[in-house]
Amino acid sequence: MAELTFVGAAGTVTGSKHLLTIGDKHIFVDCGLFQGVVDVRTLNDVPLPVPATDIAAVVVTHGHLDHVGFLPRLVHEGFDGPIYCTPPTQAVMGIVLDDAAHLQQELQERGFQHQRPYAPPVYYDQRDVERAKHCAVPHDLHKEFDVADIAKATYFNAGHILGSAFVALEFEGKRVIFSGDLGRYNRPLLFDPEPLGAADDVICESTYADRVHPPDALEDFQHALSTAIDLGGAIVIPAFAIERSQDILLAIATLQSRDPKIASVPVHLDSPMAEKVDDAFEAFPNAHKPIPNDSPAHPFGVRNLTIHITADQSKELNHVRGPHIIVSSSGMASGGRILHHLHNHLSDKNSTVIFAGYQSAGTLGYILSHGAHTVTLYGDNLPVRANIVHLGGFSGHADRDELKRWLQTCTSKPHLYAVHGEAESAAALAAIADTALGWKADVARRGITVTL
Ligand SMILES: [Zn+2]
Repeated sequence: MAELTFVGAAGTVTGSKHLLTIGDKHIFVDCGLFQGVVDVRTLNDVPLPVPATDIAAVVVTHGHLDHVGFLPRLVHEGFDGPIYCTPPTQAVMGIVLDDAAHLQQELQERGFQHQRPYAPPVYYDQRDVERAKHCAVPHDLHKEFDVADIAKATYFNAGHILGSAFVALEFEGKRVIFSGDLGRYNRPLLFDPEPLGAADDVICESTYADRVHPPDALEDFQHALSTAIDLGGAIVIPAFAIERSQDILLAIATLQSRDPKIASVPVHLDSPMAEKVDDAFEAFPNAHKPIPNDSPAHPFGVRNLTIHITADQSKELNHVRGPHIIVSSSGMASGGRILHHLHNHLSDKNSTVIFAGYQSAGTLGYILSHGAHTVTLYGDNLPVRANIVHLGGFSGHADRDELKRWLQTCTSKPHLYAVHGEAESAAALAAIADTALGWKADVARRGITVTL
């Protein structure tokens, strides 16, 4: 008999952590950090349903922090089994976890913890990260591998970020699919999500199951940039260092060739991870589509681009005047260098902040994109005078129609559990499965165990 317990990303979009118990063995599928409002973040301190030492293995779908960010903590608590992932995810996960430990340490050293309500507390250090990285066991897409002597697993491309996969786990004559985060169709960088095949159960993300993304992200972006350039101030774009930054850079490169006004504006990528992420894209050329006009002088084909790796290089941006584009992480403005740029420019009525991805409730990005008049940053109360723009079209998550399209590739009628979504979107996904596809469907609730 097998049981599934929803430990995280049930009723929330973060903290992805699904505990699969087969016989007397326990496996986690994903092991992410809860992020966002304090109530959600404190879930990181809730004891796991079983001790970390009893977890036999972790199967990771992709390298985002809300899917891998708890791994060093799991290791800290005694886990020492294999962490399965695709080879590109191993690289991405390393970059993401290094950065997470670095940010946590920096916050602790500077004593900003109590002053930065949007930043995460400290959960682990670099030693835990190194031990977690040491547990990584990569497996290519489509190559079945054994998990803890009780299940077979196979990864398939999910099209969400570099290396992202959905995973089929087979045990006791069943085939159970965990979607991880599902990407989109016809994207410039990534391949389409692969078909599901047959399944008995599908544990599916629902981030945008109640919405449809705007059809032409590039046109919206062009309009937003053009308006921002006319205002004459800084154009600050918070973007996840992995994938979203590359999507934004590719879009800027395309718009530079279309629009001389946009081509005339300097572009700054401010990210300590920029080189490593570039290296990851280069190391796995088969994991993404060819990048047009990519060259060492013009990464992702962008002209007029300066990359800021070190802290001193980042500080140079404080002195730039006139219209200029700054792309920096984190995408939800929940930490990282973007906070400095927001601190510098939020109160300037000529500046513009462009959000281009999902903003989790409680993050600074969510608060700003929902019309806050003032925010507290580094202990300062700042009036928000900058133009705030939210572009939906750059999302890395499938929308309602794309989720349905992917689910329709299932050749059986499985039981669907909607995870990784706020209440409305999870209910919307369950309704699609139930009404449109005629499947059994439930919204997963945190702490609930179901029998598979
Ligand atoms: Zn993700």
